[in-house]
Amino acid sequence: LSKKTQLPNYPNLDRYELITKVGDGAFSVVYEAHDKKSDQLVAVKIAVKHELSEKNNLHLHPNVKKRTKVTERANIMKEVQIMRGVNHPNIVKLVDCSESKDYYYMVLELCSGGELFQQIVKMTYFSEDLSRHVIYQVASAVRYLHEECGVVHRDIKPENILFETIPIIPSKKPKIVFMDEEKEDEGEFIFGKGGGGIGQVKLADFGLSKVIWDTNTKTPVGTAGYTAPEIVTTQTYSKSVDMWAIGCVLYTMLCGFPPFYDESIRALTSKVIKGQYTFLSPWWDPVSKPAKNLVTHLLCVDPNERYTIDEFFEHPWIKSHHSPPSSSA
Ligand code: ADP
Ligand code: MG
Repeated sequence: LSKKTQLPNYPNLDRYELITKVGDGAFSVVYEAHDKKSDQLVAVKIAVKHELSEKNNLHLHPNVKKRTKVTERANIMKEVQIMRGVNHPNIVKLVDCSESKDYYYMVLELCSGGELFQQIVKMTYFSEDLSRHVIYQVASAVRYLHEECGVVHRDIKPENILFETIPIIPSKKPKIVFMDEEKEDEGEFIFGKGGGGIGQVKLADFGLSKVIWDTNTKTPVGTAGYTAPEIVTTQTYSKSVDMWAIGCVLYTMLCGFPPFYDESIRALTSKVIKGQYTFLSPWWDPVSKPAKNLVTHLLCVDPNERYTIDEFFEHPWIKSHHSPPSSSA
């Protein structure tokens, strides 16, 4: 109860009782909340409206007041609209949305397992099987977005990849068995919902995403026969940014640190532009050749050369291992 009294008071949010803060993004605060109507736990993402960025914010709770980045109406509307149009097991669902004078609210399916980011920090790095299990699900979400919705996410990173439930990941490198092998020896780690494990991974945060296809006609924007080549090219380019990001996430899972890093933004940018990364020894020594090969095809500076989502799924490191059973298991 004491926790609750410390929470800011948000108007027009009567249906949802905020419980605890679960996330802090660049543009928002996210709370775990109780939906009194459905008696379910949800996540409520709260963004501060533009108008109160400067001097009108004295009445706000200190949690919110410090926030300098504000959300433009058009941006939140776009985020809501895109999320309303998507429906995929590996994408966080939008349940409801509303607003008050000072805030926008997005009610989302709760992912109580937290960010992939936190898990990498906790575990130092992931085994190849665990990395594949996670990236496969992220890529499934991306394939759905690119091919069925004409949406590019544009902000894929470990902070925006969430675990549906608290992942049970042994601290020692686990020998991973899939559900269909029906083994349950101690020390082994079983994928899938029933036996614990890490379950589903979900892509969140559509704040920077963009529609590139006409979602009604499922064709490129404009009339098919009259679409200029640079529009087709631009769309291919925009999709390739998600593939680059998938490469960065996969790299990070496999070794525990990101492919490009520098204290100075300038130096970091220069490394990215040149694609200057290495499979640093000793961290990358135990990683298999096929895994490195896939990373190489994703972290490819030329977007024309970079793997598309279909090529990703055709790669031996993905294809040769049957995918983990999902919710049907
Ligand atoms: P921003 O656009 O401000 O980055 P996000 O949508 O990424 O906002 O949310 C910020 C953080 O809040 C996420 O990194 C995550 O830790 C947490 N979060 C977001 N959505 C959920 C959710 N549905 N369930 C649990 N935590 C969430
Ligand atoms: Mg985010």
